Amino acid sequence: MKCSFCKKDAVFEARYAGNFFCRAHFISMYWKRIKRHIGKNELVVSGDKVAIALSGGKDSTVLLHVFHELFGKRPDIKLVAITIDEGIRGYRPRSLPVARKNCKKLGVPHYVVSFQKEFSTTLDKIVSRKTDKSPCTFCGVLRRYLLNQTAKKLGCTKLATGHNLDDEAQVILMNLFRGDEQKIARLGAKVGIKSFKGFVQRIKPMRVVPEKETALFAMLAGIEADYHVCPYAHLAYREDVRSLLDSIEQKYPGTKFTLLSSMDKIISELKKSSSSRSPSVCKGCGELTSGELCQACAYLGGIKHG
Ligand code: SF4
Ligand code: ZN
Repeated sequence: MKCSFCKKDAVFEARYAGNFFCRAHFISMYWKRIKRHIGKNELVVSGDKVAIALSGGKDSTVLLHVFHELFGKRPDIKLVAITIDEGIRGYRPRSLPVARKNCKKLGVPHYVVSFQKEFSTTLDKIVSRKTDKSPCTFCGVLRRYLLNQTAKKLGCTKLATGHNLDDEAQVILMNLFRGDEQKIARLGAKVGIKSFKGFVQRIKPMRVVPEKETALFAMLAGIEADYHVCPYAHLAYREDVRSLLDSIEQKYPGTKFTLLSSMDKIISELKKSSSSRSPSVCKGCGELTSGELCQACAYLGGIKHG
């Protein structure tokens, strides 16, 4: 097949748009889409110190490279990277060196924070106890807690995560299926209450890019990333939603984009109605919460504040 824009050999077919892309046009389309998304939503502005949540996987590593390219030379914007080591044997020890290597190559300051050091336990130990919750439930809550705490300590104004279109579409469906209206209201390109000093606003610059396109971009741009899959991933509810969505997308290309854009309209309405509620603060750690204790404190029986 030939590129729809220049008649060179195509490396990618965007079935949702009915177009083929050669290498150069694919890379240019990828950049354009991310830059437009960042600009339109003012994800990064002058004066920002941005922490990149870097796992070493393809999405966060591409995000690191994209931000370094866009903002690395700007004197008014600072970048740092944070990696959380959850303590998952055979998985995190593989991606951590990749994260380190990429930060070193780009000259981005890199901070590694571990469950072991902060909570005196690891995810492996937590899940070895009998529990009805999936490993991802603990992992997600505790990782978000540490990312926010570390970004706050480093004086960051934003925390950028590598969530892609597939991740976002999956989370929307998961919350819809669970009937969790509050969590749906918290989704979007920018998450969190800017005015609340205990919370570093989270931004998602990659949420308009399908997962496959980031994998292709990483390969074409020669970005080294870790492609191993977490040993707990298959236990997550998300995996069932992922296969459901992928099969619908296969039959009806563009479904994930449509789901995201239509939900974004609903989310902005939900945000308006929920913004009047004042946030409560966790008694254990000072993080934002909807109850007395945040989920991280509830799981660990209270994390000492500070
Ligand atoms: Fe954590 Fe689940 Fe991701 Fe594994 S798949 S790193 S357990 S959230
Ligand atoms: Zn707490």
